[in-house]
Amino acid sequence: MAKKQFKSESKRLLDLMIGSIYTHREIFLRELISNASDALDKLRYISLTDDKVGLTADDFRIEITADKDARTLTITDNGVGMTAEDLENNLGVIARSGSLKFKQEHADAPDDVDIIGQFGVGFYSAFMVAKRVTVLSRAYGADAANLWESAGSDGYTIAPAERETVGTDVVLYLRDDTEDDNFSEYLEEYTIHDLVKKYSDYITHPIVTAVTKSRRVEETHKHDDHEHTETKWEDYTETEVINSRVPVWQRAKSEVTDEQLNEFFRDQFGAEEDAAAIIRVAAEGAAVSYKALLFVPSTAPYDYFTREYEPGLRLYSSGVLIMEKCASLLPEHFRFVRGVVDSADLSLNISRETLQHDRQLKTIAANLEKKIRTELERLLSADRDGYAGFFRAFGIQLKYGLLADYGVNKDNLKDLLLFYSAKSEKLITAAEYVAAMPEEQKYIYYACGASLAALEKLPQAELLRKRGFDVLYLTDEIDEFVARQIGLYDEKEFRSVTSDDLGLLSDEETRDAEVAEEANKPLLDFIVESLGGKIAAAKISKKLVSAAVCLTTQGGVTLEMERYFAATRQVTDVMGEVKAERVLELNDGHEVFNKLKAAFEADKARAALFAELLYGQAVLMAGLPLDDAVRYAEITNELVGA
Ligand code: ADP
Repeated sequence: MAKKQFKSESKRLLDLMIGSIYTHREIFLRELISNASDALDKLRYISLTDDKVGLTADDFRIEITADKDARTLTITDNGVGMTAEDLENNLGVIARSGSLKFKQEHADAPDDVDIIGQFGVGFYSAFMVAKRVTVLSRAYGADAANLWESAGSDGYTIAPAERETVGTDVVLYLRDDTEDDNFSEYLEEYTIHDLVKKYSDYITHPIVTAVTKSRRVEETHKHDDHEHTETKWEDYTETEVINSRVPVWQRAKSEVTDEQLNEFFRDQFGAEEDAAAIIRVAAEGAAVSYKALLFVPSTAPYDYFTREYEPGLRLYSSGVLIMEKCASLLPEHFRFVRGVVDSADLSLNISRETLQHDRQLKTIAANLEKKIRTELERLLSADRDGYAGFFRAFGIQLKYGLLADYGVNKDNLKDLLLFYSAKSEKLITAAEYVAAMPEEQKYIYYACGASLAALEKLPQAELLRKRGFDVLYLTDEIDEFVARQIGLYDEKEFRSVTSDDLGLLSDEETRDAEVAEEANKPLLDFIVESLGGKIAAAKISKKLVSAAVCLTTQGGVTLEMERYFAATRQVTDVMGEVKAERVLELNDGHEVFNKLKAAFEADKARAALFAELLYGQAVLMAGLPLDDAVRYAEITNELVGA
């Protein structure tokens, strides 16, 4: 019999697959089961109008048989079957497969990219585990069967054969085991079980296989005159349905408890704790209908903030797993969400009609984004402690989301943020802050720093608190940018306590400050000059209570931003060093100020030392490092008179 050649593209894909030590080769079973399931669907559809089929819905089944002696794995279905022509057309070409195209277009893609897992290569995946594959099939309506056979990329044969009933047997002659690869495992009951559970549990047709069981038997022996009975265990096999057929997300809400859903969450997504929130969606739309079951974790998995973490939802099409992690279903800012989307409107090989699927996936993604947001808002108001726990784990993710893409998502995310309130000593929302603002308070005050303890002592915050104004203490590195990105909340501006204008002073106080500044102008000019460019200005401050000085900034760059850029070395290549314009504010009601003034009049050199000392104090209180710590120690000693 002449051997026929595969179409050229198919041949290349086959070579590619046979040659690759593909880590996800176990998906071959999913692919074959899903083909079988499609064949069953087709025949069931025919049976609706044609009673010659002679099968009812319950008769359709997929059977998996392992033969350890022959080293074969057989997948049998009583579906629609294939004619010789079908075998030729369907199994001779993989032109529709997106995998090859993908591989060609991304020739440089690393080998571990899950191309096959993502796109599916259907029937051909059998060759990842089999050295020879036969397909014995009898099509519905045909009297005879045909046998397709191939040992890989060198071609295939098709010959007439016998099969009693309509349907298909796909027989895999497993490859030989090597030191690195164990193919025999696919003959083990538990492997078959695991793979079916993992990939095909929710196929609606029953998947049956022989299951080994033990049973007690009583044997009666006759000894001389008396009989005695012995109880023994014996193994026997029984054909059993091993898929559950109905996934939790397909069951009615009232049928499934939260406990069961959390069990599913742990089992399928490796979670250690119950989810902070569970979201169920059943959407019927013109573009796409789907069901979704989403989990908002309450703690971050250990690899969440590493590159190892892969975001995405598990995507099923009518119960068949298409993609383990479909990233395009989730926006970046909700990448912590885990779960499942199931839509009958998507075909198994997602790449085939990529464009249309793209549109459908986008529709689903946009809907899910809204659902997740609404659920988080609900949790925020219904269960603050639960939400705070979630926020501890993923708040930083929401903040990055708010900053991303120049803040396009800011309005969607700003109400999901929590800030530490100095006044109430707990996490509050921006809305709660604004609602509690006294009428005369102009701004939403915040202070950024490394720890709450450091922020407690910030001199600038002292006066604000004394006036009864709350201050938000922000301790994440990116908080300063978040506050600025939000800008206005409910028409109230976020303002750093280190900015020079806190909007606190009455007109009269402002006038007082101006008068004091005018009177002390020579001293202030002297300070700026003697500090030699370290500060942009020196001012008399009306906002200090017990501290003698503090450091603030004018212009757009704050100390926190300077610190952030210095730490991350970002932008410095482009913009040069990012420096805040520092302002030294002096408390003219403080005894130290009088000492400084006296020195300025009597001894300029001593006054210059004073200025340096006070500047150093201000720098330290702002949580910044001294330019020269040794110098600072020397000045201190000199002024003490040592
Ligand atoms: P896909 O399933 O993605 O179309 P495959 O390479 O897996 O691609 O299968 C090619 C075609 O072969 C299927 O579309 C189907 O028409 C046919 N086929 C495969 N397996 C079976 C089967 N068990 N019964 C009937 N037809 C099958």
